[in-house]
Amino acid sequence: MKRNKFGKVVILLLCMCLLAGCAGNKAQIEEDIDVTDEEIAEVIDGYDPEVDDLEAERDDATLAGTVFSINGENINFTNSSLIASNYRISPNKTVTRNHKIDTITIHMAKGQFTFWVLAEVYAQTKYQASANYIVDKDGVIGMCVEERDRSWCSSNAPNDHRAITIVVASDPSAPYKVNDVAYESLIKLVADVCARNDIKKLVWTTDSASRIAHANGANMTVHRDFAQTDCPGDYLYDRMGEIAQRVNAMMAEMTEKPAGIPTSKPAEKTDLPYMVKITKRSAEVRRSPGLQYAVATTVKRDEVYTITEEKTKDSITWGKLKNGTGWINLADTEKVKK
Ligand SMILES: [Zn+2]
Repeated sequence: MKRNKFGKVVILLLCMCLLAGCAGNKAQIEEDIDVTDEEIAEVIDGYDPEVDDLEAERDDATLAGTVFSINGENINFTNSSLIASNYRISPNKTVTRNHKIDTITIHMAKGQFTFWVLAEVYAQTKYQASANYIVDKDGVIGMCVEERDRSWCSSNAPNDHRAITIVVASDPSAPYKVNDVAYESLIKLVADVCARNDIKKLVWTTDSASRIAHANGANMTVHRDFAQTDCPGDYLYDRMGEIAQRVNAMMAEMTEKPAGIPTSKPAEKTDLPYMVKITKRSAEVRRSPGLQYAVATTVKRDEVYTITEEKTKDSITWGKLKNGTGWINLADTEKVKK
């Protein structure tokens, strides 16, 4: 097991979402970091990007590839070009990863911060926290830990060795809503990470044990799988299926053949009808398959419905409810096994 320079095994290191307010859970987490909301406020208030010498912090960041071998396999680690010049490398990390990147872990920031404010927090060794990427309140994407290195983000070393961790600016209180512009940037960033790291399909499951075990191809985890925390907040948690669907559609578009050339492979056939369980706390049923159509009714988490027809529109796959009320975004559901 990798040890940090102080010789202590780093197991539970917490991300910003804990720093900024999951204080009520602190007592339940061993090796917690001792930081108060007031200290965070001090960091944020005291930060002035005009004064701080940010360039000096950028020395070891690179968009070029870094190749090294993990378990005999040479892996070319790169970083996202979506960060442009927004990077400030945190000292809070383990150099290098011991696992290839095959997981995405999305966190909330518990505050509508800019990239530079969060990067300033992660730049401080006393907090022992970081993330590979930040998506800020304005949708700006920035980097604090290069992809080749393990961030200290999800309170779980094995997870962070294999995951790209992304902290997204959110409202400071439940359900920790994320701005639309940040949400769209998040989708783009995750698609970019998956495409560069050969993650062919992003798979979400609402079952924590399956997420942790990476069962049935599951490759998205959340902070609450590993620690007593609200992270990533219900707003993001309820959208993980939708995020996976949007990312997969975006990756398909990236590799799509030029328009007009018919593909010989028929679309994947689904056996209809089938039953689904609602995975979102509250999901909208629309009169027709498309976001522009009126909401006919809403359905609740864990309710089960029969789907009799599917239609894909604007990279969203809709399922027709047998009860005749309308169509539901299938990303808000999961199939019920027979
Ligand atoms: Zn978190």
